[in-house]
Amino acid sequence: MKFYEYNAKKIFKKAGINIPEGHVAYSPEEAMEIVNEMGSSVVIKSQVLVGGRGKAGGIKFADDPGEAFEVAQELLNFEIKGEKVKHLLVEQKVNIKKEYYLSVSIDRTNKKPIIMASIEGGVDIEQLAIDDPDKIIKHHVNPLEMFLPYEAREIARRMDVGSNMISAMGDIILKLYDVFKRSDAQTAEINPLILTDEGLIAADAKLEIEDDSLFRHKALMEANNFKKKDFAFVKLDGDIAVIGNGAGLTLTGMDMIKLKGGEPATFLDIGGGASENTIKKALNLVLIYAPVKVVFLNVLGGITRADDVAKGVIHALNSSKRKINIVIRLTGTNEEEGQKILEDAGIPFEISMEKAAEKAVAIRNSLVSS
Ligand code: GDP
Ligand code: MN
Repeated sequence: MKFYEYNAKKIFKKAGINIPEGHVAYSPEEAMEIVNEMGSSVVIKSQVLVGGRGKAGGIKFADDPGEAFEVAQELLNFEIKGEKVKHLLVEQKVNIKKEYYLSVSIDRTNKKPIIMASIEGGVDIEQLAIDDPDKIIKHHVNPLEMFLPYEAREIARRMDVGSNMISAMGDIILKLYDVFKRSDAQTAEINPLILTDEGLIAADAKLEIEDDSLFRHKALMEANNFKKKDFAFVKLDGDIAVIGNGAGLTLTGMDMIKLKGGEPATFLDIGGGASENTIKKALNLVLIYAPVKVVFLNVLGGITRADDVAKGVIHALNSSKRKINIVIRLTGTNEEEGQKILEDAGIPFEISMEKAAEKAVAIRNSLVSS
């Protein structure tokens, strides 16, 4: 799972890494208000999960609230590599004296974490690896041993940051490694890490954690919510949309899909006591998410009533332009009523979560092979 920049920054900040002052805006009005409050020039950054935003025109500057409004209007709903921009990070613009590169990732060949660092940050690191590979310092970490402050300072020394910077750079390398390790990350990256009058600041942040370890990081996952209200929606790498009521049940649904050989496209928790309308909104959300091939709706009614769920499903399917295969597991409160409503509408359902997951994966596989 990839984190939006503003969420990655929150996590980095908790680990003691400095980030620029900033706030998230969902509308031009909000962007304008933020700039008004901050009273400084800002950088307005599209929040998307695809890379190369800057080059694609997803990062712009504004000097006053009015300009922020215009820029935000332009960026919102702008598409970057097929991903629509839904929210923006409005940050204080800082004076950059120097841009560095810093990352921790997994070196698959050596099966070890690798720290990469460079005094030539801000640029495309793949390009730097081709043009000037010696500028990238690499250090493998033995995951069974502690990564120590002197080792981090040694990396800073090899980067050639200058003697007055070694301690500060070493400190931030240590902190980034700590975040990487604690969050079971695949990648933790700061590009650029910038030098300002106030010291080193992470101007950008990338964090990607293993989908397989998500169960250990429920809080992190919930922090990466795509929408502000209603429910928790997290985009994952597969093509079977998993919807459930309650975080635990949704995670179990994800595991079940994986167990049957499928890959979840979403983690979507509609919460407890979801109404007919919540179900409809949740389905609409996954219906417009392009990678989704099959929807697996997993509801164990408690406060949520099965008949409400059934009605929501029918409304969503009737109003959707896109035809999609949906597999429903529906049990719990008012299950007879709910199941009857689905039956009458000709929508099949399952009682067992396992059977439903199996069916979802089978449908997905038949779509891909045909
Ligand atoms: P990316 O293209 O998605 O990697 O976006 P980044 O967040 O890395 O920003 C791209 C570039 O915008 C950076 O390398 C900086 O040169 C510039 N930039 C970002 N934030 C600031 C800022 O606060 N002040 C200035 N002057 N430039 C910035
Ligand atoms: Mn960047």
